[in-house]
Amino acid sequence: MQVYPVAHIDLAALKHNLSIAKRAAPNSKVMSVIKANAYGHGDIEVAKALSASDAFAVARLPEAIRLREGGIDKPIVLFEGLQSVHECQLASDYQLSTVFYTLEQLSLLSEAKIAKPLPFCWLMVETGMHRLGLNEREVENAYSDLEQSRDIEGQIGLMSHFANADVIGDERNNQALARMLVLADKVSAPVSMANSAAILSLPESHQDWIRPGIMLYGSSPFADKTAQDCDLKSVMTLQAQLISISDLSEGDEVGYGGDWQADAETRVGIVNIGYGDGYNRILSNHSQLVIDDQVLPIIGRVSMDMIAVDLSLAEGVKVGDIVTLWGDQQLTIDQIAKQAHTISYELLCQVNQRVTRQYNG
Ligand SMILES: *Cc1c(COP(=O)(O)O)cnc(C)c1O
Repeated sequence: MQVYPVAHIDLAALKHNLSIAKRAAPNSKVMSVIKANAYGHGDIEVAKALSASDAFAVARLPEAIRLREGGIDKPIVLFEGLQSVHECQLASDYQLSTVFYTLEQLSLLSEAKIAKPLPFCWLMVETGMHRLGLNEREVENAYSDLEQSRDIEGQIGLMSHFANADVIGDERNNQALARMLVLADKVSAPVSMANSAAILSLPESHQDWIRPGIMLYGSSPFADKTAQDCDLKSVMTLQAQLISISDLSEGDEVGYGGDWQADAETRVGIVNIGYGDGYNRILSNHSQLVIDDQVLPIIGRVSMDMIAVDLSLAEGVKVGDIVTLWGDQQLTIDQIAKQAHTISYELLCQVNQRVTRQYNG
């Protein structure tokens, strides 16, 4: 017996999407980004399915330790680096590759007197986003220090991140890449720039390592292109169950605050998913769901554990039916994200532990 809500995770689609990244950048190595529980899909299961990756990347140390303890022995890169001597020691114990973006982090590493040197590490370069990164002069100095350091055994690469990769043709992307390439020439290091959007739209940015995230999960990184346009397949199908049906009269209100009011006799269904599962409350009153191939409107406010749906135009629907919130061909995660005035990344990450993940493929 399946207990709903369930996020069905299609591992074959995940592998297909990785192959699209590889086909786009055939000469680059792949660091598959599985931070935030693999964008809500389940980090260890996703890492196992993406074994054709050359490395994985997460944001923080606990995420990497979870993967190591879950049996993942490929290189793992920490995008947010190390914040203390203790974290340096753990990175050494678990053999994690870190990203350095402050000079303090370099001092921490030498202070830590780690037992085993770290594998392949990265210097984050500031190329216009002004989030994390060292400037060009700092990078040149840090690079030669790290080359001599006994605390790193592998290579040292140069990493940077585009602020506008999702805007195809934005001149700022070319400027950021140009800054990086000038530097890479001076220190002759492997280079990594491209996230999903750059992988799919800016071939010159592919360089030595690509870093696909959202595209692996079958969502488009562009506002004006669908996943299908990019040949990506949806990975997560979020489903719940219809747990009650009732018939309302004209004037009856539905849900907290009575935001929705019946202007005629209305058949209303209740579905067992809500913001307590990570279904965003902003979708109250203006999104849809699918039952038995029929796209139907959500009415009233999203509650913690439930939402209401207008079944007046639905045919043959009964209590116990499966309800799809996204991941259906008629209702993609990208469509729902637009309705929620956000991006698919946020909705996917919000799906929490209360939702069972079920893996197929
Ligand atoms: C999250 C992240 C990525 C992946 O970005 P997508 O847009 O999901 O492909 C790549 N690089 C860095 C540094 C990131 O933080």
